[in-house]
Amino acid sequence: MSGLFLRTLRDDPADADVDSAKLLARAGYVRKVAPGIFSWLPLGIKVLNKVETVIREEMEKIGAQEVYFPAMMPREPYEATRRWDEYGENIFRFKDRHGADYLLAPTHEEMFTLMVKDMYSSYKDLPVTIYQIQDKYRDEFRPRAGLVRGRQFVMKDAYSFTADKEGLVKAYEEERAAYRRIFDRLGVKYVVVHAVSGPMGGFESEEFLAPLAIGEDTFALAPSGKAWNVEALTTPETEDIDYSNVPACAEIPTPGTATIESLIAYLNENCPREDGRAWEACDTLKNFVIAVKHPADDEHDGKPWREIAVIAVPGDRQVDMKRLEAAFSPAEIEEASDEDFKKHPELVRGFIGFSKVGPQREAAGLEGTVRYLADAHVANGSQWVTGADNANSHVMNAVYGRDFKCDGTVEAVQVRTGDLSPDGSGPLSFERGVEIGQVFQLGLKYSNALGLNVLDQNGKSVPVWMGSYGIGVTRVLACIAEFHHDDKGLAWPAAVAPAQVHILAAGKESAAFEAAEKLVSELEERGIEVIFDDRAKVSPGVKFKDAELLGVPLIVVAGRDTAQNGTVEIRNRDGSQSEAVEVSAAADRICSRAQELK
Ligand code: ATP
Ligand code: MG
Repeated sequence: MSGLFLRTLRDDPADADVDSAKLLARAGYVRKVAPGIFSWLPLGIKVLNKVETVIREEMEKIGAQEVYFPAMMPREPYEATRRWDEYGENIFRFKDRHGADYLLAPTHEEMFTLMVKDMYSSYKDLPVTIYQIQDKYRDEFRPRAGLVRGRQFVMKDAYSFTADKEGLVKAYEEERAAYRRIFDRLGVKYVVVHAVSGPMGGFESEEFLAPLAIGEDTFALAPSGKAWNVEALTTPETEDIDYSNVPACAEIPTPGTATIESLIAYLNENCPREDGRAWEACDTLKNFVIAVKHPADDEHDGKPWREIAVIAVPGDRQVDMKRLEAAFSPAEIEEASDEDFKKHPELVRGFIGFSKVGPQREAAGLEGTVRYLADAHVANGSQWVTGADNANSHVMNAVYGRDFKCDGTVEAVQVRTGDLSPDGSGPLSFERGVEIGQVFQLGLKYSNALGLNVLDQNGKSVPVWMGSYGIGVTRVLACIAEFHHDDKGLAWPAAVAPAQVHILAAGKESAAFEAAEKLVSELEERGIEVIFDDRAKVSPGVKFKDAELLGVPLIVVAGRDTAQNGTVEIRNRDGSQSEAVEVSAAADRICSRAQELK
């Protein structure tokens, strides 16, 4: 340590917002350069290399072959898959000196597809899985939590190419199993979460989430143990409701009731229910207006286009923009603007109903279409109070399926604890997590867009089935630190620690230094990685603190006892075990304890 390029910090960096960011900076593993951009110092590199080694070993085990592609990419392939636009502001784009467009790759599906296209032409060449471990670049809106959301970060990305869907499923399963082994070896907890809601038998995608409160992803957990990403969660199909006793739909004046609260208050005051209970928000149907921003397509002269849509949601639930957006992907959505409303004077804010939208629009004598979609909680036959499309009035007894129809249903609202799980196993609970990996059955999307075909057994040209599989390497490293630390510092699992043992020579006795030095060379000869705190003028207290901050799993102290009794102390970083051992037996003992920790 007297020569190591390292400065530990006593205090947390002012802008570090989570424990891993604070400790990795304080212990001298990384230094922040700009938001989401970090420099790696010698100890950090050691840990990063170990994480990568575990990933490489497991990738090789499933026969994936390592390659290395450039991060700097020309625009054209991303244009062909529309991602040059779809990625929006999330990619770093730039021009070279000749004015040609480039980007810093946020992920590499395009180039891998093109490389396979370039090299392979027959089904006999398949299957193949190739992967790389490489820096990725994303201009994240809000880089946060240190390495968890960076703008330059390390990703392992693998891509499988197979001749048919069965091959894809097999490659996917292998990759998924490798992920389990990787995260187990790295000491990170994880939950496997369904990430797309696609129809049964459609393309599967799952995310590996580290259950951590610092995570930005919320996942839903069913009593069966199955888990879903909130965007992928589907509402179990509603049962039809018998509406034969519901009176005819009727418009009533409801002055000053542009909000759900004011409407409920008005109804309870002026139109008490016959069944004696009070009106509640869940009796009302809100019509929420959004603008859908579609990427360029051929039907719209190759230009991006904007559409207004109205979403009917139960009044006791808030719209969840992320869930709703997932339903419109790759389009983006936002709340309709004043400008949008100006173009649609038939939509009377605060009193929007069903009569001017969707299937009802034509009967109202209106031109053009405004899509009308019902949230999945709106059952056929359900009865509502909703806007009357006239200022200051509402419609009572509006029955879905009798008085109005929609163009379809959509997952639009926030889900909540107690909602029923899609697999019918009972009520859902919600937890936070960090996405550390994702496995994705891409199907034919990229092969079709980029023309990756091979000749099948019959000599027919067919597109290749693809899967993509990512692990956030630097993000995983941060998650390991999140799971393995205490208030004194980091406490690495042996598999990734920068060294197996941290030996510190403390005190003024030269005998302690000499014994420690000898021990270090003995251990190094046996292939044990050692951090040796040989600093001469540093107090024992500071050395102990640094050892605990750096987080190597075994700490060995040579000090007064070494000089007086000829022993060193061997302890676990986590405080679970401590013993005094004769100097002559120390190397053996340390080797066997290091072995136990593996
Ligand atoms: P997120 O939803 O967190 O933005 P993503 O789903 O966009 O992630 P993918 O495209 O699936 O990310 O990338 C594969 C993996 O790369 C992710 O599972 C994650 O572990 C990691 N990753 C993605 N973005 C970042 C980032 N900004 N910093 C660090 N790691 C990241
Ligand atoms: Mg992902």
